[in-house]
Amino acid sequence: MKQDRKRYRFAVAVGILLIILASVRLSCELYDIIDSDAERYIMLFAVIASGFVLIGLIVSFYLKLIGNQRQYKALMDVADRMTVFAVLWDTGKKMFYANAAFTCDTGYTSADLADPEKLAKIFPPEALSGRVEDLEKFLEGRDEFTVQCKTGGSVTTSWSTSVMFELENGDQVLMSVGTNRNDEIRLKKALLKTSEALSESDKRYFLATELSGVGLILRYEDRGDYYVSEQLCHMLGLPATGPDKGCFVGIETLREIIRSEDHILLKPFTQGVPGDETISVNVRAKAADGDLHWFNVRYKTIKDGTGYITGGAIIDITLEKEKDLIIEKMAYIDDVTQIYNRYRFIMLGDEMLSSMRFINGSPDTYWVITADIDDFHIINDTCGYETGNDLLKRFAMILMKNITDGSTAARIGGDNFSVLFRSKDEADVTNFFASVRHDLGTISGGGLEKHNIDCSFGYCLMSDSEFVGESFSEILEHSEFALNLTKGMKSSSMRYDAHIRDGVIDRSNMEKEISEALENHEFELYYQPKISLTDGSVIGMEALIRWIKPDGTVIPPLDFIPVAERSMMITRISDFVLHEACRQNKRLQDMGYPPITVSINLTAIDFYKTDVTRIISDVLKETGLDPEYLDIELTESLALKDIQHAIIQMNDLRKLGIKISMDDFGTGYSSLSYIQQLPITLLKLDRSFIMYLEDDEVSREIVSAIIRIAKSKKIETIAEGVEYSAQSEILRDSGCDYAQGYFYGKPMPADKFEQFMEQHTERSMRS
Ligand code: C2E
Ligand code: MG
Ligand code: MG
Repeated sequence: MKQDRKRYRFAVAVGILLIILASVRLSCELYDIIDSDAERYIMLFAVIASGFVLIGLIVSFYLKLIGNQRQYKALMDVADRMTVFAVLWDTGKKMFYANAAFTCDTGYTSADLADPEKLAKIFPPEALSGRVEDLEKFLEGRDEFTVQCKTGGSVTTSWSTSVMFELENGDQVLMSVGTNRNDEIRLKKALLKTSEALSESDKRYFLATELSGVGLILRYEDRGDYYVSEQLCHMLGLPATGPDKGCFVGIETLREIIRSEDHILLKPFTQGVPGDETISVNVRAKAADGDLHWFNVRYKTIKDGTGYITGGAIIDITLEKEKDLIIEKMAYIDDVTQIYNRYRFIMLGDEMLSSMRFINGSPDTYWVITADIDDFHIINDTCGYETGNDLLKRFAMILMKNITDGSTAARIGGDNFSVLFRSKDEADVTNFFASVRHDLGTISGGGLEKHNIDCSFGYCLMSDSEFVGESFSEILEHSEFALNLTKGMKSSSMRYDAHIRDGVIDRSNMEKEISEALENHEFELYYQPKISLTDGSVIGMEALIRWIKPDGTVIPPLDFIPVAERSMMITRISDFVLHEACRQNKRLQDMGYPPITVSINLTAIDFYKTDVTRIISDVLKETGLDPEYLDIELTESLALKDIQHAIIQMNDLRKLGIKISMDDFGTGYSSLSYIQQLPITLLKLDRSFIMYLEDDEVSREIVSAIIRIAKSKKIETIAEGVEYSAQSEILRDSGCDYAQGYFYGKPMPADKFEQFMEQHTERSMRS
């Protein structure tokens, strides 16, 4: 092409030179022939004028030439930048230019394409006639056109777009853009082969699936893109222009269509992980109508002759989902915060865990985070139930606002929230904590501004090598365990560490030791007096268990009761406590002391046993203790586990004639209004309220409010952990009925308690 242009320029220059030489020669001859000076002047003037006109014409012609070349070159540049085929047909000069994509795929060089003979072998005569009409006919009529490559083989092209440009010299240049369809055709053949390989019944199945609205998607191991069937194109609003009226799409298109949270569920599909099972997942994706629809995807990767093929059958299940929405909302959505509940969270976590384990070395990293609002029960009781709920809602919103793309948050109970947090970097996790705490600190309204609202986090890495083989619930427990550790350590966040856990409880060893201790009678009951705040008399005693090792070491109950609870050894311990407490109380009565009530602590395992009433009744009969002198202490969290069941059990126990107290009241999440549902006789105010009674007005307000409300429900109140006389006075003034604590007497062995009774009875007789 360049050489062509050079030759053309050379011919024009020679022509102009010859014209000038001929004109000068003619002028000289005329000059000699003409006699008069005037005529000679006129002639000279005419020659100079025509010279100027000629130069003007030459300059304008040259400028135009340069303009044409510039325009043509610009078109060549445009063509070269295209990744698809682009050719320029210059009709005036019958020139032809093909871009780099074309020369690269067909093997021809620019020189080959400048050679008319070679060009004639590539394109038919009508394409090269130079007539616009012929060219348009050639391009329009053809869906496909095959170019024989220089290196052998052929490239099938389809020329989809043609645009006509008019150059300044009037020449018309047609630019045609086309694609190399070799890959597409190869895949079509492979599909046909697969389809042919299917038995008749398989074919009927394929037809049936298409007819019943099932979309199909195929991924071949060696291709980067996906074949989407016609039906699926309709479902997703993709242009169905490819083979079999389906189309090919890249992973990016699929990622755009499918909701980001659901990408993980399709990882085994997009990565073509082979397996025996057909995987079925429900994902949300943008449908043809532009709305988010639910799709069920059933997929599997199999090996065919050349490599792996992943096939997926997809149906739109939006309608079914909508029908299920109310049920799902009830089952999966937390009423107060409108985010997922514990049940749904564990389901999601399980799904995610199995997807991640399915793909070895998944690129996604998830952290399991558990959070709670510090001292939520205080806020709940001082600001009221409504404000407490409002705080939970706002906390949920803050979590949702700060989580990363692909993460999920849920309320897993009380003020406990959990997050499946997607990020590779632990720094993102700690930044998330900081943002949440910051946002939480700015909350106001309903009296919340008076509190310094903060929260704590426990977390662990879902894919931690330590957790291999564990269920998602177990991993969640680790993050809950870490959260609990923050309380003791005064830290706002803590990552789970198995070593810490091992240090806290050497579980299996202790279980063995407890069993042996029971055999060796190493357990003993201590008794702590309960005093009437109105007349100072001893009204009862709480039986508190102690494990006294042969070397004299005393192990407090909180160090072994939780271990015993896990191993069910607690039943044997509680049996011992019940027998021993009833026996000791009866003994005191038999010794002539005024009758008092003995309280025993029961765990959820003891309390929810179906035969708890029978067991207690048997022990009462056996020891001869009147039921009215036995009191069962239950904690709030125990009753909350299953409130309906708890009410039934409590009513049964009450029918025996025994008393029921609510221990540690205020540490759980129950509101006072909920307490009235439970048939309790006594409410034990938790030590945490009593501790700061003298200095903290909020504690005083809570305590007097609880006492007032309890009284209105005809429930008596007792304060635990009373250590100072000032506390007892405040409690008495607030209308509290009874008190228990070091101020009156520490828990003591049975013989010491008998001495205490001796002294106290005497004192009470003297006063
Ligand atoms: P609890 O039922 O709330 O018992 C009160 C705890 O507070 C006792 O701790 C008691 O020693 C302690 N305490 C009482 N007055 C004061 C005071 O003025 N200041 C302070 N700082 N502490 C005071 P203990 O005996 O270590 O028991 C701890 C918990 O272990 C009990 O809490 C109860 O939940 C559980 N527990 C104790 N004995 C038994 C038992 O026989 N069976 C079961 N299932 N649990 C038991
Ligand atoms: Mg107790
Ligand atoms: Mg208590």
